[in-house]
Amino acid sequence: MSAVIIDGKKISAQIKDEAKSLAAEFNADGIQPCLAVILVGDDPASRVYVRNKKRACEYVGIKSLSYELSEKTSQQELLELIEKLNNDKECNGILVQLPLPEHIDEQKVLLAIRPDKDVDGFHPYNVGLLSIGSARLKACTPAGCIELIKRSGIDIQGKSCVVVGRSNIVGKPVSMLLLAENGTVTVCHSKTKNIKDVCLGADIIVAAVGIPKFIKADMIKDGAVIIDVGINRLENGKLCGDVDFEACKEKAGFITPVPGGVGPMTIAMLMKNCLEACRIQRMA
Ligand code: NDP
Repeated sequence: MSAVIIDGKKISAQIKDEAKSLAAEFNADGIQPCLAVILVGDDPASRVYVRNKKRACEYVGIKSLSYELSEKTSQQELLELIEKLNNDKECNGILVQLPLPEHIDEQKVLLAIRPDKDVDGFHPYNVGLLSIGSARLKACTPAGCIELIKRSGIDIQGKSCVVVGRSNIVGKPVSMLLLAENGTVTVCHSKTKNIKDVCLGADIIVAAVGIPKFIKADMIKDGAVIIDVGINRLENGKLCGDVDFEACKEKAGFITPVPGGVGPMTIAMLMKNCLEACRIQRMA
C-alpha cells in the first residue's frame, strides 16, 4: 500500500488564503496589519527566505517593513531598531532572520522583541505559554506540522507520537504542540538508545534531525504518519529530507515530501501569526 502524500503546497496555499480573508477584515475596519523583517548580513539563503516572506505578505495583504542591515551592524544598533519597532504602534510583528552574524548574541536579540510582536514564537515568554498549554504565538514550523496532520484528517488525540530532534526551534515546540493535542509524546535525540524500536511504536513520527534519510522504512510501522521537517542539501544540489521518502512511502499511511511538505507551511504560519499578533495587540 502506498501512503497518502500530504501536499504542503496546497495546504499552505489554503492557509494563506484564509489569512488573506482575515487581513481584508482588518482592512475593512481601517487596520493595516504590518510585519517588520530584519536581515543582518548577506547570507544568500537568508536573503531568499526574507524575499519569500515579503512576497507572502504582499499576497495576504500585510504591509511589510524591510530592514536590510550590513554584516557590520553592532548588537546595540540592532537592539535599538528592535526597541523602535517595539514602540511603533503601526508595526504588529517583528521578525529577525536567523542566523545572525557571530558578534551578535542571538538570545539577547530574541529576548528584546516584545512577546506580543514575536511572530516567530521564539521568545521565552511565548515558549513558556506553549509549555503550560496556553500557546499564543506558536513557532511557525512546528505549528505548520500540526496543521498538516490535522488538515489531513488525522486525529492526534491518544496517538503515540515520536519526535526525533529536540532543538528549541523545532523538536521541543512540536513535542509541546503534540502534547497539547493530547498525543502521547516521546522525544528522541542523539543520546537516545534504540531509536529504531522507539520509532516502530509510533503512530506519528516527526523527524527534525538534520541528517538525510535518517528515518528508514524498517523504523516505521505500517500505516504510520510521517512528517519530515528536514531540509538537507545533498552534494548533487538536490534537497532531501530526514526521511527515506521513497522507501517509507510504501509503508506509511501518510507522508510529507521534501520539498513541498513542511517547508511551505512555515511562511503560511508566519502570516497567520502576524494577524494573530495584530488581534492580540488590538485586544490589549
Ligand atoms: P538541530 O541541529 O538544531 O537539531 C537536531 C536535533 O537532532 C538535535 O536535537 C539532535 O540531538 C538530534 N540528532 C542529531 N543526530 C541524531 C541522531 N543520530 N539520532 C537522534 N537524534 C539526533 O536542527 P533543527 O531542529 O534546527 O533542524 C532539523 C532539520 O529541520 C534540519 O534539516 C533543518 O534544516 C530543518 N528545518 C526545516 C525548517 C522548515 O521550515 N521546514 C525550519 C527549521 C529547520 P541533540 O540535541 O542530542 O544534539
